[in-house]
Amino acid sequence: MATKIRPLLAGNWKMNGTRASLDQIKAIADGVKAPLSEKIDTLLCPPASLLYVATALCDDSPLAIGAQDCHQQINGPHTGDISAEMIADCFGTHVIVGHSERRRNHAESDMLVRAKAEAAHAFGLTTIICIGETAYERNSGQTLDVLKRELGASVPESSTSETTVIAYEPVWAIGSGQIPTRADIEEAHAFMRDELVERFGTDGRNIRLLYGGSVNGDNAAELLAISNVNGLLVGGHSLKAVDFLAIYGAF
Ligand code: PGA
Repeated sequence: MATKIRPLLAGNWKMNGTRASLDQIKAIADGVKAPLSEKIDTLLCPPASLLYVATALCDDSPLAIGAQDCHQQINGPHTGDISAEMIADCFGTHVIVGHSERRRNHAESDMLVRAKAEAAHAFGLTTIICIGETAYERNSGQTLDVLKRELGASVPESSTSETTVIAYEPVWAIGSGQIPTRADIEEAHAFMRDELVERFGTDGRNIRLLYGGSVNGDNAAELLAISNVNGLLVGGHSLKAVDFLAIYGAF
């Protein structure tokens, strides 16, 4: 890798997984071990229903467990939501916010994503804040404008390189088997890096930038070789231990 930033591999199970999948979490936890675990951080975000049991399963593993979303408030009349405090109470250490599926399916705005990230930071969680352009935005030449707007508005002032990770996930690349060209990823990540340095100073240099969208064991090494790619956010290929550990092995 071109950078000295400690890389992060994160898996997002989305709305997949029941107790029958706990063997996969256990297999991932067992596979995440030294010497590689001394060089990279690894995180799995199962559905909220498995959070507590997953953290228990990972007790002896460097594999961290996180959630896929949190509410912006601590508690209250928000049927169906989960708070940052609840995630921390289950021993979760991370939370994904602003995933494009939530932005689209739940009409989440940049302001809301920012409020969620602030709530997460208040309870000591590391946030993975997702940004990325749609196919329409890419085809109309708006990619960097979208990244600028989403980075500026979704990332709170409370962000540091310890508390915040940015995931660049082109919406059209998610689950589609299509990924941007190497040059396009390099351009997007260099742009995000510059924006973060401008806003957060030298700490902006250390904020981890993940690429996400159709990552698998075959393309992971190539993606990781791109400048300013400090890790990967993986959906479909994080569900089975064999697939996720193949990506882990590419670091
Ligand atoms: P994918 O999903 O790896 O299945 O494309 C990535 C994501 O949505 O985080």
